[in-house]
Amino acid sequence: MFNCEREPLTLLVEITPRLAKKRYRESIYEAWNHQCGYCLEPATSLDHIIPKFSSGSSKRNNLLPACRNCNKNKGSIKMDQWYKEQLFFTLEQYNKIKEWMKEPIQIEDLTIDNKLVEKLEYA
Ligand SMILES: [Zn+2]
Repeated sequence: MFNCEREPLTLLVEITPRLAKKRYRESIYEAWNHQCGYCLEPATSLDHIIPKFSSGSSKRNNLLPACRNCNKNKGSIKMDQWYKEQLFFTLEQYNKIKEWMKEPIQIEDLTIDNKLVEKLEYA
């Protein structure tokens, strides 16, 4: 399809999806100050609040930064059930997560097409 790896079109196709994905993920970490949304330890990954296999999406409001322990321990248990059983549970943080799940897409995210983001997440 492309004649040369340095062709501008090649570079654009190669770089843009990665940057878009990186930016998308970083904006989620930033919204939570890079803290785990559950226990407030430093976040190392994005957790699907509603697990993918329970038809949870990879949209912004279903992704929550989480530390290694929380992501691993929560596994496929429902967030409400799991989080309420944790020692670090606080109603304040719980409400924050519930608010996040309701939050509509922010203006600055409109530059990224949601369908494209979904495709990238499942790639
Ligand atoms: Zn945690």
